[in-house]
Amino acid sequence: MTDHRNDKTPATEAPEPATPGLREQPTLILGAGPAGLTAGYLLAKQGLPVIIFEAEDQVGGIAKTEVRDGPGGKYRFDLGGHRFFTKVKEVDDLWHEIMREEFLLRPRMSRIYWNRKFLDYPLRGPDVIKKLGPVELTRCMLSYGWAKVKPKGREDTFEQWVTNRFGKRLFDNFFRSYTEKLWGVPVSEIRSDWAAQRIKGLSFFSAAKAAFFGNKDDEIKSLISEFHYPRYGPGQMWETMTDDIEKLGGKVLMSTPVKQIKVEDGRVKTIVTSDGQEWESNYVISSLPLRNVAGMVEPAPSPEVRSAARGIRYRDFLTVSLVLDGEDLFPDNWIYIHEPDVDVGRIQNFRSWSPWMVPDPNKACIGMEYFCFAGDELWEMADDDLVEKGMRELEMLGLAKRDALEFGFATRVPKAYPMYDMDYAERIGTMKDWLNGIDNLQQVGRNGLHRYNNSDHSMLTAMRAVDNLVKGTEHDIWAVNAESVYHETEQQDDQQPYIEAPETQAQNEPLHR
Ligand SMILES: Cc1cc2nc3c(=O)[nH]c(=O)nc-3n(C[C@H](O)[C@H](O)[C@H](O)COP(=O)(O)OP(=O)(O)OC[C@H]3O[C@@H](n4cnc5c(N)ncnc54)[C@H](O)[C@@H]3O)c2cc1C
Repeated sequence: MTDHRNDKTPATEAPEPATPGLREQPTLILGAGPAGLTAGYLLAKQGLPVIIFEAEDQVGGIAKTEVRDGPGGKYRFDLGGHRFFTKVKEVDDLWHEIMREEFLLRPRMSRIYWNRKFLDYPLRGPDVIKKLGPVELTRCMLSYGWAKVKPKGREDTFEQWVTNRFGKRLFDNFFRSYTEKLWGVPVSEIRSDWAAQRIKGLSFFSAAKAAFFGNKDDEIKSLISEFHYPRYGPGQMWETMTDDIEKLGGKVLMSTPVKQIKVEDGRVKTIVTSDGQEWESNYVISSLPLRNVAGMVEPAPSPEVRSAARGIRYRDFLTVSLVLDGEDLFPDNWIYIHEPDVDVGRIQNFRSWSPWMVPDPNKACIGMEYFCFAGDELWEMADDDLVEKGMRELEMLGLAKRDALEFGFATRVPKAYPMYDMDYAERIGTMKDWLNGIDNLQQVGRNGLHRYNNSDHSMLTAMRAVDNLVKGTEHDIWAVNAESVYHETEQQDDQQPYIEAPETQAQNEPLHR
């Protein structure tokens, strides 16, 4: 990749920062995901010294891009599929400042794959009628009619709520399978009021409504029709930012996990990295998961804080990335798999994200997404078995033949989704009170604040933390809101779906290793 951009120089006439000592000692930044890099870039741009510590050998965190050599060159795989779309101008401006002409505007196409057929999404009435076919359409309508006339009965669960309103047939076709895959429990264990909230907002049925009555006020924000995307995937954004930070005089230390945060008199005194080195600091910005931070701070926090940290839950995620001989399997960026006989939840088609992700026009490059809990059967499966499973499922879905496989690999993404269970707000409150007692440590980012939000929010929290340091503003970072309510059906709210959140194996792990 060539860098067509101007050389970076820090601002020469930056005013004296509001926080004393920022020029004398580097601000230490923990984690080189979108949040940590944003903080590092903005500080370095103002001529302030920064050191960023990253545990992995690659930047970008859960928004990184995996790269593999294959036939014809380098293949790139996004973990998920990261659309760059924000309501926050500051974030949008920064994305453009970093990416410039490398920031492509891409069309969106995504459909539902159901009963071996593609259904347009947003739904269109005539398309739904055609794809359901006369027999299934009649069944759905009869089942819907019955739901309308029969006594409602109990409504404790997601299943009961949806079935009461739309009939069992539509529920089984379009709600059961994807919902169970996403949340990892039977639909009978998902709350009815969560269904009520979700289905009034973004859902199959609001999409169906939009199909018939239009989407005038852009209510269905998940249906944005275009978005920005770096030519070589999201990783290009974070790699370019890293280069820029270094050009501006900052340091990004790769494969350097932080092991300990030593606190004295209510201030971080030093950070200890895995090589045993201690780093002194006036100020620390951390994007590390709250759970881990509780296990890193010395002296250890109170039993109450540790217990709150132990209770924090996450839903994890893995992708099986495959390169296949032949044409793309479908033209969409991604498809939702509403098929109960396979575990895959979504399939990404990387050429549609950016043609530059796939060097050979005769190969397809896809990401099969599985939602899981770290430690469960899927998570523990050997990589080769996961590739095998991916191919088997593609074949079952009728999307590809087993012998088309060129190569494949699996990537596990722990803590992909911060979970909002019944007690999470209380737990996060406990953590927040404790952290407020450490003067020169600010948490930012998705798992850093336990906020199920997109990268624009993570970056905005870092921007506000930098403003507090440099300009002396008093933003409450925990309250930063990017209003990025355009997510897909795995939409975040401050509500949680579970009647009783499942105990996860990860909860029994030490807070930090
Ligand atoms: C499936 C999926 C799809 C998504 N789609 C979108 C989308 O379309 N658009 C969008 O904007 N966002 C999307 N997101 C969200 C986006 O990925 C996150 O908001 C963003 O990556 C969070 O950035 P962060 O810097 O807060 O955290 P992270 O990305 O988690 O970065 C934290 C960093 O800290 C490092 N670290 C951890 N422990 C240590 C340690 N001890 N020492 C040093 N370093 C450490 C990690 O290695 C990591 O690099 C999606 C997320 C997922 C899971």
